[in-house]
This record gives sequence, C-alpha cells and structure tokens, in this order.
Amino acid sequence: MNYYLDLCAGFSCLAGDCPYTCCAGWNILVDDASVRRFAGLEQEGLREDILSHLTKKNGKYYFMHQSDGKCWMLEEDGLCRIQRNLDEPSLCATCRKYPRLAARIRGDHWISMAASCPVVAEYLWQQKVGWRTSGERGDGPDAGSSSVLRQLGREKEGLPVGWERGRAWQEIAWKLAEGCAQLLLEFREHPYFPGSFDYFEQEELSEGRMAEDIRSYERALGAQMLAFQQNYSGYRLFSRYLEKPEETEWERYCQIQGEILLMDVICFSCYSSDPGWSRKEASLVLAWVYRFCAHGSRLSQKVNQMFQKILVSVEGWAEKT
Ligand code: SF4
Repeated sequence: MNYYLDLCAGFSCLAGDCPYTCCAGWNILVDDASVRRFAGLEQEGLREDILSHLTKKNGKYYFMHQSDGKCWMLEEDGLCRIQRNLDEPSLCATCRKYPRLAARIRGDHWISMAASCPVVAEYLWQQKVGWRTSGERGDGPDAGSSSVLRQLGREKEGLPVGWERGRAWQEIAWKLAEGCAQLLLEFREHPYFPGSFDYFEQEELSEGRMAEDIRSYERALGAQMLAFQQNYSGYRLFSRYLEKPEETEWERYCQIQGEILLMDVICFSCYSSDPGWSRKEASLVLAWVYRFCAHGSRLSQKVNQMFQKILVSVEGWAEKT
C-alpha cells in the first residue's frame, strides 16, 4: 500500500518567491549517481562550478555552505544554479525529493513532507491534514493518519495537546525562551525569528499583565492554535519517525510536544509584542520552528535534550503522554 500526505499531489514550490530556502543549515548529501552525472556535464563552467563546491566526508559527497549556511549553488535571487542552467531532474536526489520525506515501513511506502518548507507549513496551519492511499482518499479523512499512528503503536490521535495556558505553560514559556536563546547562536540559518522572544525580554512584567495578555492571545488565536496542534501532532508523529526512526518514543514525544509549545510561545510573543502582527505569519513561525528544531544533527540533538529537560520538570506531563 502507498500512503502519502494529500499535499504531495498538488505541491508547488515558491521558487524565487520563497521566504526561506530549502538548502540552508543542513548538509545536502549528493548521491554518487549525481556526482558522476555532474562530472560528465558538457558545460565546462557549470561542471567546474559544481565540482569545486562539493566536499567529501566519510566517503560521501555534500554541497558546501556559504557563511550564512546556504548552499553554494544558491544565487542571490533564491534560485539554484543547477536548476537554472539545467532542469529539475538534473538536481541531486536530495534536492529533487525535498520537501518530501519518504520511507518504507513494514512493507508500505509512506511519503510525508517537511514543515520547514513554507508551503507545507501553511498547509499544516490552515488545513486539516489528510492522507491518501494509493492515489485515492482512504475510508475517511483520517484513514491514513490513524493507520500511521497504529503502526507507530499510538492508537489515539496524536499526542495530548491544548495546554491550558496557566502556570505550567508560563513556566515552560520562560524556560523555552531562555533555552532557545542559548542555542540560537548555533543556528546559522535564520538565527532569530522577528519578535519570537521579545515578550520575554521585558524588564518588568507583572503576573496580572501576562495573564491579561494570554487571555487576549487566546481570544485571537486560541481556536486556530488548538486545531493546528491536533493537526500537527498526528502529522509530526509520523514525519519525525521518517526523519529519525532510531529515536525512542519518549524522545519523539518530547520533540513533538516541544515543537508545538515553541510554536505557541513564539506566536504568543509575536502577537503580544506587536498588535499589528498578522496570524498569517504563524505559518512562517512554524517553518522557522521546524528548521530550528530539526535541521542539523548536532543542534537538533541539543534542542531535543532541552525539550526533555523542560518537559520532565513540569509536573504531571510524563503521566499525560
Ligand atoms: S522551501 Fe519549499 S517553497 Fe521554498 S524553495 Fe524549497 S521547496 Fe520551494
């Protein structure tokens, strides 16, 4: 059986209009067949350009990064020199596939998509996630995702979400702001999402004022955030599994819950710090959160450890999962 996220069918890349880029902040593995193809290119200038920007580590080839973390083949206008001079099928397998995440699980083929792509993030923020099976919709909108969760040994729909934004949430918010501040320097790609932790940098903030700000945020975004969290927990259980099948369930659940809380905290900070902040920007927050949390093996490991440490410090969370 083939299962795929329904967005796969209608996905369209924003190319030069993309506010992010796919090829920043992580090592782009270039498969051997593509290296041979690049080495055999007739266009000498392009051939030398590509080969001189490959680096070899542990017997594998990768594209080199510019100082801001972007791939060396990416131009100022956000377009890739290989795609500009050749075509999409000429890209290496990693770039051709992105943002798709594919795997074979217990005999079935699964394809999800990475939320670091703003198109995917917008879909997760705005629409109910659906899965298709072998080109047709399954028995119902969630037939596929329920099946994913069963495969992962998780019968219920995702993880518990919808935190009451009381004392525990506030404690987590402060800890996340502090923990992320320590890790942001290691995130070369987009070190700071505008407004993300501004709220927590205020010198004098009374409990009453924060409670009022939370109420205002809930009125404006509470319902959409809850729907998003339900959406995301089911989607992310599976996509995280595709990215890191070796992870323990505990690590995966902390990761997903941490990403959901981080998204909520950043949206709260942006909304409360700037009354003109548009909820449409929430999907860009999500793409940033996903990049910060999942790109780069060393940083993502530290982020996961931060989530685990923060969440175990919150009374009652471990029992809920
Ligand atoms: S992140 Fe998504 S929209 Fe942006 S360039 Fe990559 S595939 Fe296209």
